[in-house]
Amino acid sequence: MDTILEVKNLHVTFSTYGGTIKAVRGVDFHLNKGETLAIVGESGCGKSVTSNAIMRLIPDPPGKITNGTIVFKDKDLTALPEKTMRSIRGVDISMIFQDPMTALNPTLTIGTQLMEGVRQHHRITSDQAKSKALEMMHLVGIPNPTERLKQYPHQFSGGMRQRIVIAMALICEPELLIADEPTTALDVTIQAQILELFDEIQEATGVSIILITHDLGVVAKIADRIAVMYAGKIIEVGTKREIFYDPQHPYTKGLLKSVPRLDVTGEKLVPIDGTPPDLFSPPKGCPFTARCPFAMEVCDKVYPVTTEQSDTHKVDCWLQDERAKQLLAASAIKQ
Ligand code: SF4
Ligand code: MG
Repeated sequence: MDTILEVKNLHVTFSTYGGTIKAVRGVDFHLNKGETLAIVGESGCGKSVTSNAIMRLIPDPPGKITNGTIVFKDKDLTALPEKTMRSIRGVDISMIFQDPMTALNPTLTIGTQLMEGVRQHHRITSDQAKSKALEMMHLVGIPNPTERLKQYPHQFSGGMRQRIVIAMALICEPELLIADEPTTALDVTIQAQILELFDEIQEATGVSIILITHDLGVVAKIADRIAVMYAGKIIEVGTKREIFYDPQHPYTKGLLKSVPRLDVTGEKLVPIDGTPPDLFSPPKGCPFTARCPFAMEVCDKVYPVTTEQSDTHKVDCWLQDERAKQLLAASAIKQ
């Protein structure tokens, strides 16, 4: 399978008066062409920072990519001048944010905004831009596109506005689409429709998608693979099947137990006790130690070695390490 994006050893920090926050701490992952990778985790785990880093939208200062590479189609985005990045953003890589209202200009018609979007980057006539805008409206399922192009954002419902935002993100035919909590602001039925739309769009255009979300329900619908982030690190990655049916990391297991499942009835939802560690001074060892019912002495001291459960399934947890049995025997297990 062709890889379209490869992130290696990504570190991002933010300088504040209180010290330096280590928001992303050595993240590795790749995205195959035409697939959807979901990056999942609680707020503050570094998932949005990771996606902003790919877009090179980390405000510097106070933010900084301090280490790592982000290779998109053989180009390391971390090394490109801002001018080149501007020609990539919105054209090769597009991003959709949580709140559709902030992405739309309330004073311009939808048609103007869509057409401006494409004409900024491509030399085409206004007729060509208009037909592209109509094509996009059609693609994202907005009825009566010719009429609707003349309307303003406030004349659309929340779900329709998010469809327009998706149309804007796709109008330059990007190869990579990053969607950061794209359905959080929408009610449940509309959420389902928008998720379905992502699937349809991927089918129609072959676009590769990174989906950032805290919601495992969203992931279940459209992800091919899932990366679970915790305290600035990816602690487990696998196919959707591997993560949902064979999770290995205690945090992933906890996440799955804390959300309702449609395929299991009568299951009790269990929240994960405690809070993630302070990223001003993150622990040297496994960041889940303080909340983990299986924590061993080694966990607190040394970050776990990544173990491979399969070609696609990787976990950072000492329980998966062959030496863990001895470690377990040698140390008192909490609880
Ligand atoms: Fe728990 Fe240790 Fe595994 Fe971390 S490394 S998740 S503390 S068992
Ligand atoms: Mg976020």
